[in-house]
Amino acid sequence: MQSPVLVSACLLGLKTRYDGADAYSQKAVDLLKKRAVVPVCPEQLGGLPTPRPRAEISSGDGVSVLEGISGVIDEFGSDATAFFLKGAHEVLKIARIVGAKEAYLKEKSPSCGTGTICRDSVCVPGPGVTAALLKKEGLALKGF
Ligand code: SF4
Repeated sequence: MQSPVLVSACLLGLKTRYDGADAYSQKAVDLLKKRAVVPVCPEQLGGLPTPRPRAEISSGDGVSVLEGISGVIDEFGSDATAFFLKGAHEVLKIARIVGAKEAYLKEKSPSCGTGTICRDSVCVPGPGVTAALLKKEGLALKGF
């Protein structure tokens, strides 16, 4: 039997985004039809409310945040790094509990982006914080 897939909750239509909306992806849902799915929202799991201020990785990418050389700052200038790190580690904990080896994640998010994040309204290459941690721990990532 295939192991379950972790999926960014917003891709499934759950209203977990910072602005209280979802980011439903029919493509992701179609690909997941015969799979056991575990929805996760690292920002909620990290303790942030919904809606919440928009946040960006201040320099580098999620790897830089894991290494402690960058951080996550919200639109009001508050440091949200600890919430993002906690959320990433909670998602990793869930991956281990359910035996997930793959994650389908929302692109362009400072948490979930697998290959693209956004800074100052510009998309730049690099993973978000949760994506960086899951990849480091050996999960296969697919971005939507
Ligand atoms: S943290 Fe990830 S799952 Fe949560 S709303 Fe943002 S992109 Fe979606």
